[in-house]
Amino acid sequence: MFENQIIIHVDMDAFYASVEMRDDKTPVGKPLIIGSMPNERGVVSTCNYEARKYGIRSGMNIKEAFNLCPKGIFMHPNFDKYRKVSNQLHKILESYTDVTEYIALDEGYLDLTKKVNSWEDAGRIGLEIKKRVREELSLTCSVGLAYSKTAAKMASEEKKPDGYFEIPNRDEFIKLVLDRNVRALYTVGEKTAKKLHLYGVDTVRDLQDKKNEVKRFMGKQGEYLVDLAFGFDDRKVIPYKEEETKSISKEFTFQKDVSSFRLLDDVLFILAFRIEQRAKRLGLYGEGVSLKITYSNMKTITRSTLISANTNDAYTIYENTSKLLKNVPKAEVRLVGTGIYHLREEDGRQLSFFDVFSKESDIVKEKAEAKWQEMKAYYKIDFDKIKNISNGMNIYGYIERMREVMESMQKYNI
Ligand SMILES: [Mg+2]
Repeated sequence: MFENQIIIHVDMDAFYASVEMRDDKTPVGKPLIIGSMPNERGVVSTCNYEARKYGIRSGMNIKEAFNLCPKGIFMHPNFDKYRKVSNQLHKILESYTDVTEYIALDEGYLDLTKKVNSWEDAGRIGLEIKKRVREELSLTCSVGLAYSKTAAKMASEEKKPDGYFEIPNRDEFIKLVLDRNVRALYTVGEKTAKKLHLYGVDTVRDLQDKKNEVKRFMGKQGEYLVDLAFGFDDRKVIPYKEEETKSISKEFTFQKDVSSFRLLDDVLFILAFRIEQRAKRLGLYGEGVSLKITYSNMKTITRSTLISANTNDAYTIYENTSKLLKNVPKAEVRLVGTGIYHLREEDGRQLSFFDVFSKESDIVKEKAEAKWQEMKAYYKIDFDKIKNISNGMNIYGYIERMREVMESMQKYNI
């Protein structure tokens, strides 16, 4: 049986950019773009609303952003600072319930179903959160109150920035989204939307009308999508527990087993960027690095090592995993994975050494760039789209193409 919940979704407005503008007034009223610098490779991580007027968006190539707005102020992100603000936000949210789930530094769900006596009480809490965020953090957020997670997320999006919106039940949800593109159901990404388009489904209404076809052709995913189109979503808010995030890892199973350890090494390099992305979002650093290999006979081995300074940097993760890879038995491999463990919130570095380390981080960046270039030349694949950590692009296709290239080189003994 489907039951309504009472869920609040809080989302900070243009978070990184807003924090920077709060702390330094220079960019206020001007377009501010956080991400890579225009002379570097990379993408826009966040930008303020002035920059959005120029058509700049998160995930956009930094060169494109620069062309749209050459006078904009470009800045690197300062994750340590954002994490501190994020912790302050969590304190506010956790004063209302301990059933909170954070999906990014600036975003979280609160389940108030068992905490309040009425919908109106929840509404008052929603508005109070906005007020406290403004007063205590000098920042704005958007708040959505709704009967499900999907609806709450959508509600916070609805009146952004500094918005407040309620979706009390399925009827209201359907009214709101019925004639919107399926992408409005925020779990529907570009790829899924394209797939649905092939079945003649563009809007949520289409999805309702063609529910049988969608279920038939898309299986479990189809059923889930159809449920969403009818406003059914009983996913629970799952409280984040410190001890649950003991490690962050990412693994990859090949379509066909591979024998090239050079390929495995390169895949570890790509996976390390996904670890970096997730760790930075959570504001966590690892004390150790791990490697996992499953051979074609299904035997799995793991190796791990502690590293000198806590890290969440992709190249450092890769460098250490790569050393581990050199010492494992050579045989056909079906799965390779890497990760960091013993997570903590501090990187354990002295601030007074900042200069030294910022130089060090430049060296690490150069090494990573050199590795990308070398891989590009070797596989004849352009990795530009997946190399930046803020880009959520699927790495699956890239790795499979690398495997195919490697396979054909081995076949012709190149
Ligand atoms: Mg946000």
